Amino acid sequence: MRLSYSAISTYQSCPLQYRFRYIDRLPSRPSAALEFGSALHKALHELYDKNRSLEQLNEFLAQRWGATEILQEAVEPRYSLAVAVSTMENFYRENFKEDGTPLIVPHALEEWFEIALDGHVLVGRIDRIDTLENGNHEIIDYKTGKRLPSQEDLDKDLQLSIYYWAAHEAMGGINPERLKFYFLRPDSNEQFVTYRMPDRINDTKETVYEVIRSIESDKASDVFKPVKNPLCGWCDYQGECESLATSARSDVITNPELFPDEENDDLTSVIDEYIELKMRRDEFKTRMSELQARIDTYCMENAVSEIEGSKGKIERIPGGMLRIVTD
Ligand code: SF4
Repeated sequence: MRLSYSAISTYQSCPLQYRFRYIDRLPSRPSAALEFGSALHKALHELYDKNRSLEQLNEFLAQRWGATEILQEAVEPRYSLAVAVSTMENFYRENFKEDGTPLIVPHALEEWFEIALDGHVLVGRIDRIDTLENGNHEIIDYKTGKRLPSQEDLDKDLQLSIYYWAAHEAMGGINPERLKFYFLRPDSNEQFVTYRMPDRINDTKETVYEVIRSIESDKASDVFKPVKNPLCGWCDYQGECESLATSARSDVITNPELFPDEENDDLTSVIDEYIELKMRRDEFKTRMSELQARIDTYCMENAVSEIEGSKGKIERIPGGMLRIVTD
């Protein structure tokens, strides 16, 4: 069996979801949150690995948004290109000198590891490893999620414990003194530090082996239990989940607040409104593309990157994306 931290964490929160994702390999829905995180991780890799300038990074992000439908269509402003650009600008300000050189040159980036476990393999990738002044190392994992961890969460976080173990046993010469979650934000980044001791590695191993044993037993009996949890609403496999099909899912369909009339009169108006909004959204997207093309052409022909209207200013980011300047 090949396991990653994500697979372990999925199994711990719901074995059935683990089966759908990692054994049945059912596709997952595209997610703006995941694409946003992945775009920023890639941009940070480009920044350090290829010595990109801020302008090149903005261009990279604009191209990524241009090629990713789910990001273009994301309704939540926090997944917008403007937020991604501000986040990278903020990171750059905090981590690079004015001449464009980094305050710290990372020891390793996106470092891959594999740990053999009695016929199984634990795999993963560490975002960044820095060398501290005393020669020891710091493991950094970038985060783009909203929820910040408490110190207690951090001190027992399994992902960081696995990285600590991997650094000790699968990456010769690394001495991981500190472990850090680095939350990327458009205004001010937040860093959360924790520590591990070598004598705790055995606890981490035992947790991983316990999960392996449990998965093997579920496979042998062909029973992966559904565990309803607060994240069920975001689960990609709600349709396949027996548990939801018989209870929570039918609750949603008959929710009296949404559909008060048993004859579904209101459902008709809900569907009609949905169709109308969908058609207007398509019209809206077409018009937005026309306007964008006109602005883009104007900027290119007149060699300008900003144009002012009566309601604000628009900036053309290298790569052709436009953003509204709000200051
Ligand atoms: S909907 Fe909930 S219970 Fe069902 S598979 Fe997904 S996470 Fe598990």
